[in-house]
Amino acid sequence: MKPCLLCGENRPKVVFKEFGIPYLKCKKCGHLYSSYEREMDYDGYFEQIKDEDDATFYWDIAHKKMYEGFAKKYLQKREGKILDVGAGLGFFVKFASNLKGWQSYGVEISKGGYDFAKNRLKCENFFLGRIEEQNFENESFDIVTMWDVIEHLPDPTSILNKCCDLLKRDGILFLHTPNGEMQLLKSKIKRIIFGEREGMHFLEAKDHLNLYNQKGLTLILNRCGFKKVRFTHLPPIQAVAGKNNFVSVFVKNGFYFLARIISFLTFSKCNFDNLFAEAKK
Ligand SMILES: [Zn+2]
Repeated sequence: MKPCLLCGENRPKVVFKEFGIPYLKCKKCGHLYSSYEREMDYDGYFEQIKDEDDATFYWDIAHKKMYEGFAKKYLQKREGKILDVGAGLGFFVKFASNLKGWQSYGVEISKGGYDFAKNRLKCENFFLGRIEEQNFENESFDIVTMWDVIEHLPDPTSILNKCCDLLKRDGILFLHTPNGEMQLLKSKIKRIIFGEREGMHFLEAKDHLNLYNQKGLTLILNRCGFKKVRFTHLPPIQAVAGKNNFVSVFVKNGFYFLARIISFLTFSKCNFDNLFAEAKK
């Protein structure tokens, strides 16, 4: 059996099966991970992206509230350099480049994402390849972001170490990833109600190789040089599986406010929300 990324234990139990692929839970530390094996530097994302594709731009609109919430919290009345690692199509890099006082950079491993960001969005400081291969100076960034990246990686250690090196002494790594336990619960409920049909999304066993909780994410960040880790909240993506279904989005926003209240009342011990981690050296 595939060993647990966090504690090395290799006797997980199967907690979900998605189109035949077992999703596992470590018996020792509770970490959730897919049994699906994918190479570390998989770069096949965004190959189907077409310039005229409205759905592509819909994702930008859907992320707007989240990005604005982030800017209000971290970028307002400050200035500096921000780097987005796993920058995808470049929408966040473009968004940040329009903010006063900020120089934004992006790195993306997939050629499809890179081409879109360069040619379509005209992102200036956008680079193709692994973050570990770029020529950025150590301790040169004020903020490094990773939006929906870490769950795709079989092992994020080398990338997180690199992010730590690139950050200034008082710099911030900001990381967004799904909340593993919540994804599992939602997937189980969804399957009971709707069954399993082609095209449905559950845990994304082929893409989301590791699903974290607060404890697990803190542990791996600590290991990679981030001593201080705390969790915060930002408005959710205003879409469900890439579609703007008004009722689903309304439910999603309601859930977000409820999760915030519960997190506040339990001194952030109990967090049902997506994980938004803020990490410092
Ligand atoms: Zn474990």
